[in-house]
Amino acid sequence: MSDSTSISKNNSQQDWQRRSLNAVWHPCTQMARAAVVPPLPIARGEGPWLHDYEGRRYFDANSSWWVNLFGHSDEGIKDAIKQQLDTLAHVMLAGCTHAPAVELAEKLSALTGGALGHTFFASDGASAVEIALKMSFHSWRNRGLDAKREFVCLRHGYHGETIGALAVTDVAVFRDAYAPLLMPSHVVESPDSRQGADSEARALAALRSVLEARCGHIAALIIEPLVQCAAGMVMHEPSYLRAVRALCDEFEIHLIADEIAVGCGRTGTFFAFEQARTSWPDFITLSKGISGGTLPLSLVLTTEAVFQSFWSDEVARGFLHSHSYTGNALACAAANAVLDRFANQQVLEKNREQARWLQNAFAPLQSDARVEHLRQRGMILAFDVRADLVGERFAERFHLAAREQALLIRPIGRTVYLMPPYLIDESTARFLAHAVTQTLNEVLLHAA
Ligand SMILES: *Cc1c(COP(=O)(O)O)cnc(C)c1O
Repeated sequence: MSDSTSISKNNSQQDWQRRSLNAVWHPCTQMARAAVVPPLPIARGEGPWLHDYEGRRYFDANSSWWVNLFGHSDEGIKDAIKQQLDTLAHVMLAGCTHAPAVELAEKLSALTGGALGHTFFASDGASAVEIALKMSFHSWRNRGLDAKREFVCLRHGYHGETIGALAVTDVAVFRDAYAPLLMPSHVVESPDSRQGADSEARALAALRSVLEARCGHIAALIIEPLVQCAAGMVMHEPSYLRAVRALCDEFEIHLIADEIAVGCGRTGTFFAFEQARTSWPDFITLSKGISGGTLPLSLVLTTEAVFQSFWSDEVARGFLHSHSYTGNALACAAANAVLDRFANQQVLEKNREQARWLQNAFAPLQSDARVEHLRQRGMILAFDVRADLVGERFAERFHLAAREQALLIRPIGRTVYLMPPYLIDESTARFLAHAVTQTLNEVLLHAA
């Protein structure tokens, strides 16, 4: 900024950056690096766009860490929150209840045809995962099967970063430093469509052999249905989910479908697991998109059988877990508005059309020699950049160069992906493809 009058004390881009670096410890960030590449101060959001303090705007291609569904200023969700705020912001959910929580649980039950008719509330994704793990273990214990206390998870799977969730997460950068603190779990091969057709069979064989050896000691398998997002948008077919459901039945272990990222229509159906066309998982965890990207909320949905295993005169057989903000009324009101959108406004149908526009716009990358494994599942599109072309700090350089194209995007390693808000039309899809291609030209040109 050369114009000294615009360096006001408040609200300048640089001022917020400086103050943020002093006082805010940013997540998922080496702060020494943030001093070199400071965070981007965002002044406001509107539709899929985020605006900075200097009049520039950026398309939120990652839906602000996969939470946003209908843009940053959706009137329906805003109105629902405002109305709820005028009525009741929060009341504890032990000993009390309230309409937004009841309605939300009923709607979620209906979405599973009543199969997952009991909803437990929490506030963030990792807590929902902790709850599903604890519930599974405790449910077996209440049935006299105390030995079932181990968990199976998939290679490169991600389920959050609290100690319990991290124990079933297999992403080295998040896990390795804390490995000594974590309960051991069984990590089995994950299916990966990039590795050819027999990847799925190999993954299923690996799972079967762990279950054969340890099923009497295993409480549950936890998976991310269809797309392992944090792994770098690793995709598999619904047939894998069908086979996994059958294996969990055969060996009598719970199946936890972690739909925190893939739920709420991202993959083409409301729940990704629906595409398996088989019986439901024993638990589904939801968070991120459920409040449309407005307020923290997470949920664990489970079955009558699990619920019944806690039903008793004995207090200690109950599920006594709680969080202070459990079932927050504002967050539930936002989630109800989100589910009403799915019920009344053909969100999934419109997403199919939006997914096609994305597919068409990015199709030229299929024959781009710099790019490998262009793949898509619903509103998630990803490709890998060839390892020999990326050079140092590819993700950071791509992120910075993309900003110049009005695009906010954060690759995972050398995987570039888009998980945009459901506000794509043909011209936005073309803009996104153009911006991504320009960024590739820029970044790979300067690669060593
Ligand atoms: C983001 C995520 C979590 C953790 O949710 P937080 O709200 O970040 O704790 C868990 N599982 C999956 C699949 C996720 O993508």
